[in-house]
Amino acid sequence: MRSLIERLYREHTLAPDELRSLLSDCDATHLELINAKAREVAQAHFGNRIFIRGLIEIGNCCHNDCYYCGIRRSDRNVERYRLDKETILECCREGYALGFRTFVLQGGEDNYLTTERISDIIATIRQEFPDAAITLSLGEKSTEAYERFFHAGANRYLLRHETHNPAHYLKLHPQSMSLGNRLRCLDDLKRIGFQTGTGIMVGSPGQTVDNLVEDIIYIEKLRPEMIGIGPFLPHHDTPFAQMPAGTLEQTLLLLSIFRLMHPNALIPSTTALATLTPEGRERGILAGANVVMPNLSPVDQRSKYALYDNKASMGAEAAEGLRLLQERLERIGYTIDMGRGDYRPEA
Ligand code: SAM
Repeated sequence: MRSLIERLYREHTLAPDELRSLLSDCDATHLELINAKAREVAQAHFGNRIFIRGLIEIGNCCHNDCYYCGIRRSDRNVERYRLDKETILECCREGYALGFRTFVLQGGEDNYLTTERISDIIATIRQEFPDAAITLSLGEKSTEAYERFFHAGANRYLLRHETHNPAHYLKLHPQSMSLGNRLRCLDDLKRIGFQTGTGIMVGSPGQTVDNLVEDIIYIEKLRPEMIGIGPFLPHHDTPFAQMPAGTLEQTLLLLSIFRLMHPNALIPSTTALATLTPEGRERGILAGANVVMPNLSPVDQRSKYALYDNKASMGAEAAEGLRLLQERLERIGYTIDMGRGDYRPEA
């Protein structure tokens, strides 16, 4: 196990069988070792600096019905909301004043949000904040829509592939959705020039070690600029309400594997990880993550964007809690970087 970890550290890759062993047999001692190696690599590339992104959850209306998601179409108990353009701009203004230089617009896949409307919101933010990065996380769209978003001024796009295994994909999503289309989207995004993020939920129902190996290999080939890894957490009104959450250990292991394979990638320590366990945010950073995404959404709407139960959105998770976040980061030897934090390819 130790030699596998050392080779992954040196060579940034392992054979599928070796990845399988690492994922199956990594005990607590070796988890500590791989977390330390990943931390060392992150520090070599980014120092002790953690980039922050202001997350604006622009709406929870969604025409998709993903079995894991708390804002899925079939959930009749969700109080739906949609932020208008002026409210989104207010969130950006508040974030900019706090020092944020990346705004992440995330939301359900909402038919009201046409290509036209989204492009208009992007163009308005771009005009008012020329030096800020605009990241979108608005799901699967047509090639033309992605092109228009890019030309309107968006720079980055987050779209987790969720799983690269077709049978597993079908366990997580209804027949109306397809893995092929999700992968087409990711190819489009890269080709168009977005800094592109993908990733998975760790411990999603039905996920096997072999599935994880497939995910790692897919991500190795795609070479995304951002990699989003967080535990699956159940939501009480979904078909997966009774399913167990992903574990802290497996999430930290995967974070470290991705850091060792992609030394300069932007890897968030996610809200889901912070929700799973009180020190989750810090544990993710100590396993090689280098980004956090505090919540900039209007406080009165935050609880409606409940992808899973007990989702953290206040305190150090909140944009207005930046000082608290800084204090928590300082306690583990890190500090907030207020820059845009663009991806920098290896020199
Ligand atoms: N609709 C867009 C999309 O599909 O990319 C953006 C919003 S979607 C809610 C953002 C991410 O939330 C998904 O990619 C998924 O991985 C994550 N998510 C949804 N339900 C979750 C759950 N129960 N536990 C953990 N993560 C979840």
